[in-house]
Amino acid sequence: MPSDVVQSSVEEIDLLVCGAGAGGMAAALVAALEGLTVVLCEKTDQVGGTTATSGGTTWVPGTHLSELAGVPDKVEDARTFLESVVANRGGLRLREAFLASGREAIEELDHRTDVKFAAATAHPDYLDGPGAAYGGRALAPLMFDGRLLNREDFARIRAPRSEFMGLGGMMVGRNELDTLLWPLRSLGNLRNAATIVGRYFLDRLRYRRGTRLLMGNALVGRLFYSLRKAEVPILFETRVKELIIENNRVIGALLDGPSGPRRVIARKGVVLATGGICWNRKIRDQLFPEGTRDYALGPISNTGDGADLAVAIGARFDDGGDSPALWMPCSSYRRANGSLAVWPHIILDRAKPGLIAVSAAGKRFVNESDSYHDFAMGQIREGAMPAHLICDSAFMRRYGMGMVLPGARNLSQMVRAGYVIEANTLVELAARIGCDTEELGATVEAYNRAATTGVDEAFGRGASVVNRFNGDPAMKPNPCLRPIGDGPYYAMAVRPADLASSAGLAGDEFGRILDEAGNPIPGLFACGNDLASIFRGTYPGPGTTLGPALVFGWRVAKYAAGKLEDTHEVPLGAA
Ligand SMILES: Cc1cc2nc3c(=O)[nH]c(=O)nc-3n(C[C@H](O)[C@H](O)[C@H](O)COP(=O)(O)OP(=O)(O)OC[C@H]3O[C@@H](n4cnc5c(N)ncnc54)[C@H](O)[C@@H]3O)c2cc1C
Repeated sequence: MPSDVVQSSVEEIDLLVCGAGAGGMAAALVAALEGLTVVLCEKTDQVGGTTATSGGTTWVPGTHLSELAGVPDKVEDARTFLESVVANRGGLRLREAFLASGREAIEELDHRTDVKFAAATAHPDYLDGPGAAYGGRALAPLMFDGRLLNREDFARIRAPRSEFMGLGGMMVGRNELDTLLWPLRSLGNLRNAATIVGRYFLDRLRYRRGTRLLMGNALVGRLFYSLRKAEVPILFETRVKELIIENNRVIGALLDGPSGPRRVIARKGVVLATGGICWNRKIRDQLFPEGTRDYALGPISNTGDGADLAVAIGARFDDGGDSPALWMPCSSYRRANGSLAVWPHIILDRAKPGLIAVSAAGKRFVNESDSYHDFAMGQIREGAMPAHLICDSAFMRRYGMGMVLPGARNLSQMVRAGYVIEANTLVELAARIGCDTEELGATVEAYNRAATTGVDEAFGRGASVVNRFNGDPAMKPNPCLRPIGDGPYYAMAVRPADLASSAGLAGDEFGRILDEAGNPIPGLFACGNDLASIFRGTYPGPGTTLGPALVFGWRVAKYAAGKLEDTHEVPLGAA
């Protein structure tokens, strides 16, 4: 019988893992499979952290799942790809470790646990280049049936962002959106919509939300279910407060939970997986560009505790290379009840033909169809805080924008809420959003000329594989370009918000935390966002934070269990 309470006799264990997101749960699970005695402590009363609210896409090159899906991927290709994307930004040893273990980690989870994925046949890398993959590399967690957990445990899974759920608690997959928005379009749509919605209403007789878990929620459900099966004790509402050091080694930690402080001695070490910088006010103020400091997409309970605790005992903090965080452009508005509704513009609107993004100068500044991270990096470079997404009414009806979904059924409500700005002419729109009227007119004219030829000389929109993948294949000659036509016109403000940290604790290829001199601090590990990103502020493809979180969780556990050998005489750390 799994217990949420570690008896006093169990206070000395092998491995203490702090934080129940993808990184921490993977580390705890694999350590338990290796026969270590493990305790997982979690600050909140729920598992999942940011992971539960994520897309769940997990980027791991060369897995057996890519072969099963008929799109075999090769580690050598991924290496070549990363050489071109990450180039000379550093982190080579960690990237090599990730590439070396990815296949084995995913295979072991697949065979020995309920953490199961399928490789997407089409989910391209975010940048073109030698070795880039179109399919096979991005893995999607298989749907998880929450009813496999008892009701108490099901309630312990952090819910997705409310903006991403339908009917107040129903998860909807990316490829199910059309079915649910247009149930009467075909018999197939009607049947699928009835199945999904019917199941949801049945669920609601017993549960507070739907139990058909998808994406990040499915990943968390699967990790949690596997941890329960492996009987790993999870201490809820228990945070790691202080590291205990003896003879320059971390030998355990002081935890703070419902029954007060407790010391846990961990013979093999302590793993920090507390979700990265996220809402850490001090680090945000130090590292984040102006205009990005006030809002993070992770749960507010992710306060950067891992970084603070490790730095306090001499760990080196890495600034994350090109960027301290990985970003999504987000729009938002205050609901009537005072809460903030936030929409990350991931794929549904930006890449589609007929939308442009402009700065206060009324100018385009970036390829709107690029990945969310690259779009936001363009915004940061330009100082476009906010930038405005602009479209005509035909676009709004066809694709929607942000929380106005295709069909635009809630458009007038969103205009009234101030979320969408509406105007009959572009001049009026420019005045309403406070941008240069003449420039906006010239920008739209130039964009419309490019849309007619299909060549965006300014930003190369529609030139890359991922641009075209997220565009509209029906639009010719360029799936990402269509002239902006008649009004009314619409604008929506977007600002970058961090979906994950890039800056974090400097570690080596076993997830050991390094001190200022680059030597591992004995007994101290990190994974997930607590470990600085191995991609140095770039975002190579879909799932490039969860991929390393799982693989380094696996590597930390294997190393702690003595299954990965340190063959390097001199630790080179994050070099
Ligand atoms: C909308 C959205 C979509 C995303 N989609 C994707 C995607 O598809 N693919 C991808 O790769 N990435 C995606 N990401 C990013 C991804 O979700 C994160 O990088 C990842 O979940 C981080 O995992 P983690 O284990 O480091 O942290 P988390 O999942 O945040 O878990 C950290 C846990 O630690 C706990 N904790 C905090 N402090 C303490 C403490 N002192 N003691 C004990 N516990 C503590 C927290 O409560 C939390 O449960 C997305 C993010 C967002 C916001």
